[in-house]
Amino acid sequence: MVRIPETRSAKLSRKALLTRKEQIGALLARLRRSEDELQAVRRPDQLDHAADLEAYDVLQALQSAEAIDLAEVEAALQRISMGTYGECERCSGVVGEQRLWAVPQARFCMGCAAVR
Ligand SMILES: [Zn+2]
Repeated sequence: MVRIPETRSAKLSRKALLTRKEQIGALLARLRRSEDELQAVRRPDQLDHAADLEAYDVLQALQSAEAIDLAEVEAALQRISMGTYGECERCSGVVGEQRLWAVPQARFCMGCAAVR
């Protein structure tokens, strides 16, 4: 296997992405715990129960959003190891260091991101 040398942005981004991955993992674990706690008790009062159901929906939505984020972060880490990090997935152009600095999991250059 040919080892592709990592670019400077890839090095910087890997660190940021790994930190983000850890944060998302911790957050997902907290959200799951809260969900388990909610499910463990069915409060007899109708209003309380309705509030719990609403809270449950919010927890589910947050978990979905974080899972999508996590998938983006993992995909970016994979692009780093494949040597394609920083390459726009739409036009194959350069995503740009500043954009990667701001959004390390960015898959598209500014132009293509704007089109989408
Ligand atoms: Zn592009």
